[in-house]
Amino acid sequence: MNNPFENALAQLERATSLVAFDEKFLAQIQHPNRQVRVSIPVVMDDGSLNVYEGYRVQYNNARGPYKGGIRFHQDADIEEVKALAFWMALKTAVVNIPMGGGKGGVTVNPKEMSEGEIEKLSRGWMRSMAEVIGPKKDVPAPDVNTTPQIMQWMADEFGKITGDTSGAVITGKPVDAGGSEGRGTATAQGGFYVFEALREQLGLPEQCSIAIQGFGNAGQFAAKIWAAAGHKIVAVSDSRGAIRNRDGLDVDELIEHKSSTRSVSGFVGAEDFDSIDVLYEPCDLLIPAALESQIREDNADRVQAKAVLELANGPTTPEADDLLLARNIPVVPDILANAGGVTVSTFEWEQNLKGEHWSEEDVFVRLKEIMVRESLAIASRAAELKTDLRRGAFVIALERIQEAMK
Ligand code: NAD
Repeated sequence: MNNPFENALAQLERATSLVAFDEKFLAQIQHPNRQVRVSIPVVMDDGSLNVYEGYRVQYNNARGPYKGGIRFHQDADIEEVKALAFWMALKTAVVNIPMGGGKGGVTVNPKEMSEGEIEKLSRGWMRSMAEVIGPKKDVPAPDVNTTPQIMQWMADEFGKITGDTSGAVITGKPVDAGGSEGRGTATAQGGFYVFEALREQLGLPEQCSIAIQGFGNAGQFAAKIWAAAGHKIVAVSDSRGAIRNRDGLDVDELIEHKSSTRSVSGFVGAEDFDSIDVLYEPCDLLIPAALESQIREDNADRVQAKAVLELANGPTTPEADDLLLARNIPVVPDILANAGGVTVSTFEWEQNLKGEHWSEEDVFVRLKEIMVRESLAIASRAAELKTDLRRGAFVIALERIQEAMK
């Protein structure tokens, strides 16, 4: 079962079998409030016209405006966006920020497009969606293959259409265009605070060996942050390949290598191997930071890490969760582990609305407080229910959403 939305509903069913929820709430939370599909025409550099399919799923806004990133990927479709929107609704509730959950996407491979074509597509997405988006309605952000520059083009387009130039319509903008300090690193930084808060409970040593799948925004900053804290990054992959070195990789040099060659492959002093095999690397902590449904029923028994921390959304299927649990490999769930991104996104929105600019130190102090508090709350709820962290996180989030819907 690798339809991400079916996986999300299976996770919901598992969590709600532990605690009594209102039946009407359970019936409603299985459906998004609104799904928008648009056709976005783009005149390409050669003069031809391509039409791309774009999406926005507004899942639940009981706790505040819809919030969630926009993904540009060739495999993006409405089912994937729906699952991601559902997880966003849970995630904003997990960290208890005044936001709901939504997600957007376009079925496109931006790696085959020029910068000018990507700008036209980004502005076209916002033009098509402007009537359902807004600082008090729905506030998008970056996700896979979307950058601060893309957020800036979209914010600019929204300003031209509506006259609202506060920037609060979208987060993850460049800092000099109203972005928040710390937003670039926030997802990984938040994950690191969660890791520190739960490390002993996860049975991990003070100095861990780490394997990371995906070397984009989440994966690269995770490598930098964990390495700076004295942990050893022993294997890393991206869509083109994987590399390993048991003695540890030099992360700064690797980031330079990736930015000049566009791949981690061929890094001097490391061994190249198949991209998918990074999941099976012997290590203390495995950090999936690429796409969903990577650890599944058919490969979960090959995972050799002592624990998994999900910076990606939905990387572990429910069947794989069971297999890992049976082998005492704890999984720190996405809706907690990667919630630092949406938390700092919400700080950015708040700063734009108030016309303020907070220092990076201020941002990280606030982020840490939230991530540590909610990590401990989830761990203790999971222990109380004698269940895993994912079910514990779902129960807490669903209770908060149910309360708001009442
Ligand atoms: P990104 O586009 O910056 O990076 C994605 C990385 O994954 C790239 O290095 C790409 O090469 C790699 N990748 C793609 N397919 C792969 C495969 N099959 N095997 C190995 N690597 C592969 O995206 P990102 O923003 O870092 O997002 C990564 C994950 O983190 C996604 O699941 C996303 O939803 C999640 N996430 C991101 C944020 C954020 O703030 N950026 C916040 C929360 C969650």
